[in-house]
Amino acid sequence: MIVTIDGPAGVGKSTAARRLAERLGYDFLDTGAMYRAVAVVCLERNWDPAEVELSARVAREVRIETLSGQVLCNGVDFADRIRTPTVSQAASIVAQNPDVREALVRQQRDAGCNRDIVTEGRDQGTIVFPHAECKFFLTAEAQERALRRHRELSVAGHEIEIAELMRLQKERDDRDEMRSVAPLKPADDAVIVDTTGKTPDEVLDELVQIVRTRQPR
Ligand code: C5P
Repeated sequence: MIVTIDGPAGVGKSTAARRLAERLGYDFLDTGAMYRAVAVVCLERNWDPAEVELSARVAREVRIETLSGQVLCNGVDFADRIRTPTVSQAASIVAQNPDVREALVRQQRDAGCNRDIVTEGRDQGTIVFPHAECKFFLTAEAQERALRRHRELSVAGHEIEIAELMRLQKERDDRDEMRSVAPLKPADDAVIVDTTGKTPDEVLDELVQIVRTRQPR
């Protein structure tokens, strides 16, 4: 069975998807980490993420694996380098490139082949797995999303003002919603879950209940 979780930046998709996968005994596919890994490789080569030929070349060269719970990029653990604000912005720039998307969508479909997975991103229910048995679209108020991201970044040692984080978050959401390929939007058959004011446990329980109604008996 395939469960997709899409939604904007900082809405809690990764936490919800990881915990849902654990609860169900499914694999977890973190597709945001894949765009982030492509961005990191571009930045480490001093290549402009907006250079479409270069970012496409990276996306075709790398094999990114997240099912194991790590983020392996051609076998190297990238987990520590992908969550900075600079990488977030660069990831949303490479994600506008149709050739990057094509290469990564192929890897995502391979990962979901003949497997029970929970997958999270922006286009999982609309483009990558349109026949998924259960689709969610998570939302939350912008300020709460920025506060959550601020806490995560502080724990990881990145200090950034909330106002700046909200500005960057809006810039990234606008880019994701307005791009011409695979823009961020709910699938027609997605269940919309507003996570504002809810704890991660409450969100998880809500998702589990809905998935249970869709699982084959
Ligand atoms: O979800 P996360 O914040 O890790 O994603 C980083 C960026 O990668 C997003 O802002 C978005 O531009 C891009 N992305 C995407 N499609 C996905 C997953 C992520 O365009 N399926």
